[in-house]
Amino acid sequence: MGQVLLYDTSLRDGMQGQGMALSAQEKVRVVRKLDELGIHLIEAGFPGSNPKEMELFEMLAGVELRNADVCAFGMTRRRDTEAAEDEALRLLASGFAPVVTLVGKTWGLHLEKVTKVSREENLAMIRDSVAYLAEAGKRVIYDAEHFFDGYRDDPWYAVECLNAAAEGGAENVTLCDTNGSSLPGQVAEATAAVLSAVDLPVGIHTHNDLECAVANSLAAVQQGATLVQGTMNGIGERTGNANLTSILPDLQLKLGYSCVEDEQLARLTGIAHFIDELLNLNPDPDQPFVGRNAFAHKGGMHVAGVNADARTFEHMDPAEVGNEREMVVSELSGKGTVISRAEQAGIRLDDERAAKALRTLKEREHRGYHYEAADASFELLLRKETDEYEPLFRLEGFRVLVEKREDGKVVTEATIKVWVDGERYLRTAEGNGPVNALDKALRGAIIDRHPHLADIELTNYKVRILDEHHGTGAVTRVLLDSSDGERQWGSIGVSENIIEASWEALVDSLEYAFQPRQESASSSERTDPARTT
Ligand SMILES: [Zn+2]
Repeated sequence: MGQVLLYDTSLRDGMQGQGMALSAQEKVRVVRKLDELGIHLIEAGFPGSNPKEMELFEMLAGVELRNADVCAFGMTRRRDTEAAEDEALRLLASGFAPVVTLVGKTWGLHLEKVTKVSREENLAMIRDSVAYLAEAGKRVIYDAEHFFDGYRDDPWYAVECLNAAAEGGAENVTLCDTNGSSLPGQVAEATAAVLSAVDLPVGIHTHNDLECAVANSLAAVQQGATLVQGTMNGIGERTGNANLTSILPDLQLKLGYSCVEDEQLARLTGIAHFIDELLNLNPDPDQPFVGRNAFAHKGGMHVAGVNADARTFEHMDPAEVGNEREMVVSELSGKGTVISRAEQAGIRLDDERAAKALRTLKEREHRGYHYEAADASFELLLRKETDEYEPLFRLEGFRVLVEKREDGKVVTEATIKVWVDGERYLRTAEGNGPVNALDKALRGAIIDRHPHLADIELTNYKVRILDEHHGTGAVTRVLLDSSDGERQWGSIGVSENIIEASWEALVDSLEYAFQPRQESASSSERTDPARTT
């Protein structure tokens, strides 16, 4: 199978999504990560659209990339203007980016209702604009906006628009499903027709309005398209763009196309999560290939099957995309799960200790602990069965005061006394609530000895009242998600007292971060100099 070029537009089309915002510095970090992943073309934005974009292109001009070429995005010239007189095109022609992606109209409906340009004039706008940039030495990709709608409306004219780009000297014409209105069969048919009518490599750019963006991209490639535009994690306006995070392994592992090196593909999970973190999004646990649950196994039969031969219940080896097998721990699980989870975490448990851990687990599940979302607490439970477990600190005591004042203000203060490495620490801190105050006081006390714990962020705090345990009164279950910017983990606490439950989850979260473990993707991230800027 041939080579397919991956074209990432997370930084331009992806940024059209709700709540998406990145600084120029953050965008540079994204570009470096996409380069590491082996993405061939990275569309950075629209130079000249605002000062922030200008700043980004200035910064990118000085960044050396191993694999990727940077693309600048722009539109065909305005009507009644020479291409050489069009301010935006001049900026693209003089910029550093070796590739320019030009978008232009293809659909009569848009010409009539939106731009009010004649069909002939539109063809001239495409031809001139592409030719102007090609003569300036740029490689030009022509993005045919609303191509599939236009093709269904008037196939002859839609193909004429592509031919105009070809005459101008474009190196690729990309068919865009801008409204996300097309289905895989329609995309396949139109792509095949274009490939027989236009003498240029063809690309595909789809949106996910019909939940078909990935399927449409694959359909186009199977007809002979050799470039796929999309975004990481499928970010983008409305329901999002085609998800490159899925398209890449689909093409490479399932269809046998070559896109990136195997080592690059193995970074997929880490890089997909990195981009979520930068956008302040929680990685979707159910995301194909890279989600935490993508290779999760629950229940005795599945776990036994996977242990015997992973192919029994897995469509691929999770390591190929840098993910790992997750054995979901639940009331259904047995000793096999405990032993294989322990192995994954690098913990050696003999049969006897595994059996003991399982008893502890069952007893805790009965009290309301739920480890499916609390991998950190579960790992600690296993570690506590070994001789190597060392607590982060010893608690002498804590006190939390909540004061409500006449003016309505609520003030919370926590005081904590702990022993760390034989030394006693006493700290007081204020917070916007009891958990926050306790967290600050505790970290204030242990940070001298463990400075890296300062970087951990508590990203999510969920409380549930469990009343399913009749006769014992209601208990509170706290689930806490934490992150060090690269990895995410969950911890749990259960108690009749909400502060005690929160404390338990908090301590597990920090203790988990403190445990020794084999670092993989995270170590390269820490040495990334861009991270410190
Ligand atoms: Zn788009």
